[in-house]
Amino acid sequence: METRQLFTDDAYLSTAEARVLAVNEAGGIILDQTCFYATSGGQPGDTGYFERADGSRIAIAATVTGQTKAEIIHLPATDAPRPEPGETLVLHVDWERRYRLMRMHTACHLLSVICPYPITGASVSEEDSWVDFDMAETMDKADITGQLMALVRDNHPVFTRWITEAELDANPGIVKSKNVRPPRGAGQIRLVCIGENAAVDSQPCGGTHVSETQEVGEIHIGKIEKKGKENRRFRIRFGPLPQ
Ligand SMILES: [Zn+2]
Repeated sequence: METRQLFTDDAYLSTAEARVLAVNEAGGIILDQTCFYATSGGQPGDTGYFERADGSRIAIAATVTGQTKAEIIHLPATDAPRPEPGETLVLHVDWERRYRLMRMHTACHLLSVICPYPITGASVSEEDSWVDFDMAETMDKADITGQLMALVRDNHPVFTRWITEAELDANPGIVKSKNVRPPRGAGQIRLVCIGENAAVDSQPCGGTHVSETQEVGEIHIGKIEKKGKENRRFRIRFGPLPQ
């Protein structure tokens, strides 16, 4: 069952009304549309609650994809009541958490601008995110932090643009992930662009991002770890670089 993914067009939508299409055996709730992002591409799915017509709440502990990425399943907390198919709910994303994830996720894109190496993995979380690069060079974390914060302060716009698979094939250089290829088959690829006319960066991505780099706020590189001969893991944290 397909769910309209409202977060694709508007990452700032923290609440929406939706109808229950089905509740699966595991209690997972499938809706006609949702503003809850489902775990994908290194970004964890949303938590929050659904409000029923009588004002009572269904706590949502996780949001995941099903058989395909088009299928979104909302997992209620263990003791939460289950809604009925056909029921209308008002969805509320835990916005404080999601906004931190959006800031962190955008920071990962900025890091990939500073480190122009193939990306071999990434993970976004509220406190500590990391990106793995296929590189043998050693870099200074204070220097990388300084370059990251310059991109934040320049307050570049962040926006999405859709291109065709043929356009992507004509510009293979924009894909930075070494092992993960953008999903094929839909005919359209979503690019996340940074800077006027994407002057800073553009990268296929389905996640949620802030709309201008200033919103990322103060971040720093907490650690650069050696993970194998040609792999470096950069850890991004909120706040200033500890002295
Ligand atoms: Zn992204």
